[in-house]
Amino acid sequence: MAREPFLAGNWKMYKTGDEAVKFIEELKPLIRGLDDRRTALAAPATALRQAAEAAAGSGLIVGAQNLHWAQEGAYTGEISASMIKAAGATMVILGHSERRQFFGDDDALVAKKLAAALAAGLLPVVCLGENLAEREAGRAFEVLAAQLQGSLAGATPEAVAGLVLAYEPVWAIGTGRTATAEQAQQAHEFLRGRLAELFGRPAAEATRILYGGSVKPDNAKSLMERPDIDGVLVGGASLKADSFAKIVRYDA
Ligand code: PEP
Repeated sequence: MAREPFLAGNWKMYKTGDEAVKFIEELKPLIRGLDDRRTALAAPATALRQAAEAAAGSGLIVGAQNLHWAQEGAYTGEISASMIKAAGATMVILGHSERRQFFGDDDALVAKKLAAALAAGLLPVVCLGENLAEREAGRAFEVLAAQLQGSLAGATPEAVAGLVLAYEPVWAIGTGRTATAEQAQQAHEFLRGRLAELFGRPAAEATRILYGGSVKPDNAKSLMERPDIDGVLVGGASLKADSFAKIVRYDA
C-alpha cells in the first residue's frame, strides 16, 4: 500500500494560542480538498488546546513538540502524554535535534518517551540525523543506524509501522542549507533498510519517513518526488500560513 504523504510543521518556541488560531484559520482554506495527504502542526504546549479547537473537523493534525515519559509526578516544568491528549492534540515530536543538543534527550530517553507516546495513543514523530562533523567524517549512516536502533528500542513492528520517522541532518536545520534530494533519498533508503532488518520488511515499508532541514516552497516538490521521502518536517517555513500551504500543496 502506498504511504500517505505527510507534511508537518514544527513551530518550535513561536506562536501564542491566539497566533496559532489565526494561522490555522488562514491555512484551512489554502489546503482544503487535499484529501490524499496528511497535514500536521506541532505547536507550543501553551497553544495546544486552542490550536486543536481551531483545527477540529479540518483533518489537520495538531501535536506537541516533546513530552515527559512519566504519566505524572514531581517533574517541574514537564508535560505528559495524557496531558497532551487532554489538550486535544494527537501527535508528538520526539528527539528533535534541538532537544538532543540543548536538553540532553539521548536515544535511551527518546525510547522511553516513545513508549509513553505509544501507550497514550499519540502519533510519534521520531527525529534523528547526523551533524556536520559526523557527515564530513563519513560516519553519517553509522550515526543514523545507532540513533534508529536506540530511539526505537522496545517498539513492536506494529508500532513502528504506524509511527513517523523524520530524518533531519543537523547541518541543514535552520541553516538554509538543504540536503540535496539525492542525499536525503540515500539516507531514507538506508533508514528503511535498517528498519527492515530490525522490525521486518512489512513494517519498514509502512513507516513514513519525513525529511527535515531548510524545506521551503521551492524545494518541497523535488524532495517529495523521491521514492523513500514520504513527507517533510518544516521549521522556519511553517511559521507563515502561505509558505506552509505552498509546501503542503507541493504538487498542486
Ligand atoms: C526543524 O526544526 O525540524 C527544521 C527542519 O527546521 P528548518 O525547516 O527551519 O530547517
